[in-house]
Amino acid sequence: MKLYMYLQEHKLNNKTALVTGAGKGIGKACAIALAEAGAGLILVSRTQKDLLAVQKTIKKLKRKCTSFVCDISNYDETKKLFSQIKKLDILVNNAGTNIPEHFLKVKKKDMDYVVDLNLKAAFHVAQLSALVMKKSKNRKKIGGSIINMSSQLGKVGAPNRSVYNMTKFGIEGLTKGMAIDLAKDNIRVNTVCPTFVDTPMVKKFFKDKKFMKNMLDNIPLGCFATVSDVATAVVFLSSNASSMMTGSSLMIDGGWTAK
Ligand code: NAP
Repeated sequence: MKLYMYLQEHKLNNKTALVTGAGKGIGKACAIALAEAGAGLILVSRTQKDLLAVQKTIKKLKRKCTSFVCDISNYDETKKLFSQIKKLDILVNNAGTNIPEHFLKVKKKDMDYVVDLNLKAAFHVAQLSALVMKKSKNRKKIGGSIINMSSQLGKVGAPNRSVYNMTKFGIEGLTKGMAIDLAKDNIRVNTVCPTFVDTPMVKKFFKDKKFMKNMLDNIPLGCFATVSDVATAVVFLSSNASSMMTGSSLMIDGGWTAK
């Protein structure tokens, strides 16, 4: 018997989700949380050891799980990976990085690296995913969800973050354009915008205790986000519980951008 009246279906049974950067940090948590919610997983990153460890956890949850070693900055490798995927309902377009440098000192090779991964690879992965989603004849009925991993720095600037700002503001714009183009297929596209989360990417920044305190002082709730805070938002955006949301952003920033 159906017990709920207004709580829309939030289980992800029979859904297949692909997560890039699933070997560590936020992507790993998103993959495991999606499996907890019932989805089967396709994991992508460059390090097989990481992927096998996450795959082991997901198999314990009795969900289907496959993994692919792929550098998503390499378009040919990425296209080959997607040629092997027959069905997809959810994409967590998460792999990304940051090389903090003052605007006047940004090195060309660093900018190319960050833009190639955070922006161009994210675009290609999103496009290839949407093309697979569209292959399902009942897509309009069952819907699809793409979650682009943005940041609070997709909304506001910060010192030494001009390149990162550029890529995450770009992800926000990409999300809005995609949301409009894909709406007629009922493929929804949204972002999540975390504040700092303690992951391998930020561990090196947190070694500087002064920096860490300064960042904390910007967060009205007085704490950093956890990978779980981000993963639960991703599960919500993946499910029918968010069926009227597209082209929008969920702030997971403890109030940073409210000021
Ligand atoms: P992380 O700890 O560095 O993990 C990144 C993951 O992406 C790893 O599994 C990494 O594995 C994979 N990856 C990196 N380059 C790749 C490539 N070229 N191809 C395929 N996979 C690649 O990062 P994170 O902190 O979890 O961040 C994940 C996302 O959240 C990023 O988009 C980041 O901008 C965003 N974000 C993070 C924070 C934060 O404070 N942590 C805040 C806001 C937004 P391999 O190196 O093995 O490939």
